[in-house]
Amino acid sequence: MIPTHIEHIGIAVKDLEASIKYYEEILGMKCYAIEEVKDQKVKTAFFKVGQTKIELLESTDPSGPIGKFIEKKGEGMHHIAFAVNEIEDKLQTVKEKGVRLIDETPRKGAEGLQIAFLHPKSTNGVLTELCEKKEE
Ligand code: ZN
Repeated sequence: MIPTHIEHIGIAVKDLEASIKYYEEILGMKCYAIEEVKDQKVKTAFFKVGQTKIELLESTDPSGPIGKFIEKKGEGMHHIAFAVNEIEDKLQTVKEKGVRLIDETPRKGAEGLQIAFLHPKSTNGVLTELCEKKEE
């Protein structure tokens, strides 16, 4: 499997507003979208660095995945997302190679991407997301 690029890096934050301010005022990047992903109980903010995005994730519910992550580990890098083509095939391939999947089939993520997560127990501790932009 050869990913085409790093689609985004997900960073868990406690306070989206304050974090946006850091990226905008200190790093000089521009937040181009804020989106709530209800299924995931998160509010996300996006920045672009070249072809790669930074995705800030603020929990909207302590029982959601980001809420639990922050409670356990605090703020910080949450996941890395690789862009792939034919995501269903790629998921099947990594599964056949013994990787534990969080998502057996792709689901809809922010920005209309098809996404699926690989379990960090199978990826040296880095929560890994595969994603594909499907043409509508
Ligand atoms: Zn992501």
